[in-house]
Amino acid sequence: MSTPKELYKKDNQYVWHHMKPYQKNQNAMVVQEADGAWITDIEGNQLLDGMSGLWCVNVGYGRTELADAAAEQLRTLPYYPLSNSHVPAIELADKLNDWLEGDYRIVYANSGSEANETAFKLARQYHKQNGSPHKYKFISRYRSYHGSTLGALAATGQAQRKHLYEPLPPGFVHVHAPEEYRIPNGRTFEEWSLECAQMIEDTILWERPETVAGVIMEPIITGGGILIPHESYLKKVEQICREHNVLLMIDEVICGFGRTGKKFGFQHYNITPDIVTMAKGITSGYLPLSAAAVRQEIYEPFKEEGEDSHFRHVNTFGGNPAACRLALKNLEIMEEEGLCTKSQKNGDKLREELAKLDNHPNVGNIRHKGLLVGLELVEDKDSKKPASSSYLAKIMGECKKNGLIVGKNADTVSGYSNVLTLAPPLNITDEDLTFIVKTLKNAFND
Ligand code: PMP
Repeated sequence: MSTPKELYKKDNQYVWHHMKPYQKNQNAMVVQEADGAWITDIEGNQLLDGMSGLWCVNVGYGRTELADAAAEQLRTLPYYPLSNSHVPAIELADKLNDWLEGDYRIVYANSGSEANETAFKLARQYHKQNGSPHKYKFISRYRSYHGSTLGALAATGQAQRKHLYEPLPPGFVHVHAPEEYRIPNGRTFEEWSLECAQMIEDTILWERPETVAGVIMEPIITGGGILIPHESYLKKVEQICREHNVLLMIDEVICGFGRTGKKFGFQHYNITPDIVTMAKGITSGYLPLSAAAVRQEIYEPFKEEGEDSHFRHVNTFGGNPAACRLALKNLEIMEEEGLCTKSQKNGDKLREELAKLDNHPNVGNIRHKGLLVGLELVEDKDSKKPASSSYLAKIMGECKKNGLIVGKNADTVSGYSNVLTLAPPLNITDEDLTFIVKTLKNAFND
């Protein structure tokens, strides 16, 4: 077994970390084990993971039932491609239909980005085979994130993540997303949300409806700063999509699997998406797995005869049997332990305790849906000028020093990278919730 010193040296030499600027003479945290909401690094330091890794360990760490389910499947059938089928893929597709409360056909993949790429390809081919061959464009929102691969990145609405990799695939158009904390003058939040929905219709008209294939959005923008729309927004977007034969594609990569207090985030808004993409929480991050769930009607044109009418798409590892078996166990745990309801209750409890920060001069707004929480930090409450990234770094550093990991939203060109984020495991204990609030409060006071 290598010593911590040796591991840091090799890590610095060989591992290219994601999303991290090079820092000379600074070691990354090297995590060795985890249990519940807590992770332990190779030096024995324990930290409460207020972000469930990357918003995904919904049932918490250390669930040996999940490891057992995967191990058993690996012994029986470790792999088979889904050009045919296998039992865990069938059973999981069935279970996902229960969770979606609809009638969907499931295409498996391994990551959120791949699920979204699958959705884009499917949507284009669907329109081609359904009498609208020129529909190829997708509308998404500024501040959204849809993945790291080129198509998903083109859909993403955060320029700073994109400019180094351009040109990205053409055919992606962006519009504003509504947010309650920064409503333009003289409007109510509902009016602003409906105006933002109207921008989608205007964009469809400007682009010409016969060229627009789909609208993709998260129910709540997560990594872009926890932007929760007015409850009327998504319904209006759905109406607009139906009117113009545009597919409504909902990215549930973070919002799905109880994160917002319901099975899927869209279920707060009384809509029926055409395609739902999901990843992360589907296995609580224990193994890679993702899926695009596609409304059965969209499958109809793919039933036609002809060399080109099936979906010409393959994914070697998508829907791996062990990952599907583990996902089934993960969903069973969530059902048995009532984790969607728990997420809602724990989210409300956390928000109540965070009220201790409401009066802090730099805490402009605290918002949440279930255990998806954002604290928007400002220089002062009147101007709402975004707090600087060094201020956020200080708060986050102070929290980490005292054993708490909190996240922050992605940098945006507008300078709004001022939202601290929390997304702990859904079954977090009261004691751990109190620890989060106490540590945050101390960080602000210091
Ligand atoms: N969509 C959303 C909303 C996400 O947050 C992410 C990842 N954070 C993705 C897609 C891409 O998922 P992955 O990193 O698994 O490719």
